[in-house]
Amino acid sequence: MTELSRRGVAAALPGDWTYAPALESRELVTISERYGLFIGGEWVEARSGESYTTLAPRDEEPLAQIAQAGVEDVSAAVAAARAAFPAWSALPGAARAKYLFRIARILQERAREFAVLESLNGGKPIKESRDVDLPLAAAHFFYYAGWADKLEYAFPARTPRPLGVVGQIIPWNFPLMMAAWKLAPALATGNTAVLKPAETTPLTALLLCDVLRQAELPRGVVNIVTGDGTTGAALVEAEVDKLAFTGSTEVGKEISRRLAGSGKKLTLELGGKAANIVFEDAALDQAVEGIVNGIYFNQGHVCCAGSRLLLQESIAAPVIEKLKRRMATLRLGDPLDKNTDIGAINSRAQLRKIEELVAAGRAEGAEIYQPPCALPEKGYWFPPTVFTNVAQSSRIAQEEIFGPVLSVLSFRTPQEAVEKANNTPYGLSAGVLTEKGSRIPWMAERLRAGVVWANTFNRFDPASPFGGYKESGYGREGGLHGLEPYLRFDSAPGR
Ligand code: NAD
Repeated sequence: MTELSRRGVAAALPGDWTYAPALESRELVTISERYGLFIGGEWVEARSGESYTTLAPRDEEPLAQIAQAGVEDVSAAVAAARAAFPAWSALPGAARAKYLFRIARILQERAREFAVLESLNGGKPIKESRDVDLPLAAAHFFYYAGWADKLEYAFPARTPRPLGVVGQIIPWNFPLMMAAWKLAPALATGNTAVLKPAETTPLTALLLCDVLRQAELPRGVVNIVTGDGTTGAALVEAEVDKLAFTGSTEVGKEISRRLAGSGKKLTLELGGKAANIVFEDAALDQAVEGIVNGIYFNQGHVCCAGSRLLLQESIAAPVIEKLKRRMATLRLGDPLDKNTDIGAINSRAQLRKIEELVAAGRAEGAEIYQPPCALPEKGYWFPPTVFTNVAQSSRIAQEEIFGPVLSVLSFRTPQEAVEKANNTPYGLSAGVLTEKGSRIPWMAERLRAGVVWANTFNRFDPASPFGGYKESGYGREGGLHGLEPYLRFDSAPGR
């Protein structure tokens, strides 16, 4: 007899495993009705006089009016950055580091507020904003703060100098984290910056302005201009010394054409179509977690998402079975609910793109599986999806979907896995799941991917360089490599 039944207490029957909602408080954030541009340390009205409404993708609730910066506004921001450059670049590295450390600490202190805002404006689950985006954004500032006074040791026998004013354009999938990836190395190396967040997710970049003021960062060192692609295009054309772009391959190519011959430095972090490769000796239950993390993390809005699953033929059937069972346990719903695994799709336009590619997958004869899953009536939603029987040439095996959609292919030999993995225009990341240690470096050497994860996926660290091959772009962010694109080198005297 159990203790409970001896005491006459009826134990709850484990018939219904539904979680009760565990909502994070929306009251943690204060959103203004409208925002201006952050130029020279001040909030200013956009000279363009234009604005647009930013929404919450979970229910299309209007959140705020956002300024749409025009050419003149972008020029004003670049001028403010130019004016701030001499004093900022002349500061000793340790003094610049002090500001970066402060920003990192304040982000940690205000992490909960930022996480709620990120999930509200972007649609990603709060557990991801809280446990991934915010810690990594702060870690990036900490990491580059550490380099600010050690640049001469980072590049021995060379004299590193800042470039001047850098223009930075970022996407909507990791809004604050992308801002941190861009700003931290630029500032550590003595540059000043004009950053343009993505049009659908401006709110955490605008809250960051508050942090910059709290950290007493000198005016004009960071300027933030909001708006759509036309604002981005104006920044590309502006008098900046370097442009750092993260976004789609299509826009990256356009920027590269525009800047050809201009003498401006350029780094491009673009799209991907990563292969997540599972060998027959892998621990299959763990592999399923690696697959789920690879594609359903952040609704698959991840440039390095493991969107092509390559299974060794002998284990394909059991892995697909286990994966389907696991997919049925994923909880889709309110991004502010701490139980949510899959949040809202970032925008209507992105939802349309996912729907179009999924329809193409069906039309091309692939088999689709979506677990039973109720979608909320309002907002932008797409269920976790897996396609099997996918042809190597099919659109869903070649094009970036940027949604919670996985395409499964199979292989027999390691050589065939490498050939299939490399057979896309992209080369950003890849995953290898195997218990055989020697296979990992063998595969990593042959995979044309900037990052190769072994027995895990989607792990990031500020000390580790990140970037692509082929149509995934060029240049690296993170680590020692991430300093270089923000520097020019004079030869050291006497050498
Ligand atoms: P996007 O290229 O449409 O937009 C990215 C940014 O560029 C936005 O701020 C946008 O306003 C701006 N922009 C749009 N047109 C422009 C133009 N003509 N000139 C200058 N700027 C312009 O991409 P997206 O849909 O926002 O983001 C998704 C894409 O980003 C995916 O392809 C994804 O793979 C990629 N991405 C890559 C990385 C990476 O590190 N490689 C990281 C995140 C996202």
